[in-house]
Amino acid sequence: MNNDSTAIPDGARLPLVEEFFSLQGEGYHTGKAAYFIRLGGCDVGCSWCDSRFSWNPNLHPMVETDAIIDRMTKSGTDSVVVTGGEPLMWNLDYLCTGLKKKNIRTFIETSGAYPLSGDWDWICLSPKRNMPPVREICKVADELKVIIQDKSDFEWAEKYRGMVTGKCRFFLQPEWSRFETIIPEIVEYIKRNPIWRISLQVHKYMHIP
Ligand code: SF4
Repeated sequence: MNNDSTAIPDGARLPLVEEFFSLQGEGYHTGKAAYFIRLGGCDVGCSWCDSRFSWNPNLHPMVETDAIIDRMTKSGTDSVVVTGGEPLMWNLDYLCTGLKKKNIRTFIETSGAYPLSGDWDWICLSPKRNMPPVREICKVADELKVIIQDKSDFEWAEKYRGMVTGKCRFFLQPEWSRFETIIPEIVEYIKRNPIWRISLQVHKYMHIP
């Protein structure tokens, strides 16, 4: 936990990397419009991370959470995706309370490495080997999205499929830099194990954030 987070435990200010109104590019809600809030801070350290710029929270301004909510409201969206970094390094109760007052649906993308805060309509759990999820998040995940870099990740995916509840949906997503190599393996795996579906980072093909 970053020291700054203990100084503002109510989450009334958050380290904002970027915010934008776009389409969800991954997982169950692919293609749906949403306002994205990317928070700084992550110590999970995935070797293939495409959001390294977010890792150090001190490189991003601490922004009034109310101001973020005001800007989001002006976009006209009815959905917010909170991502990172690892957003659960921060207390997200204040943010979610404000979003709910505006009747905004709340979505989070998390590795699950930190305890849950906030009130979420949808929790996308993407477990990472470097810092496995806390068990409580597995029990409330709506979506399990596992990044597949090599064949050994299928076993990792199945381990977490066994830890979530019956409401959860299952997605395998190719690690972007290994796409050409790993996609045939994923296709064959899903044909043999059709409870899984593929998740492609379609925003990258569309050249949108
Ligand atoms: Fe990057 Fe997400 Fe892994 Fe953190 S958890 S290192 S932001 S991929």
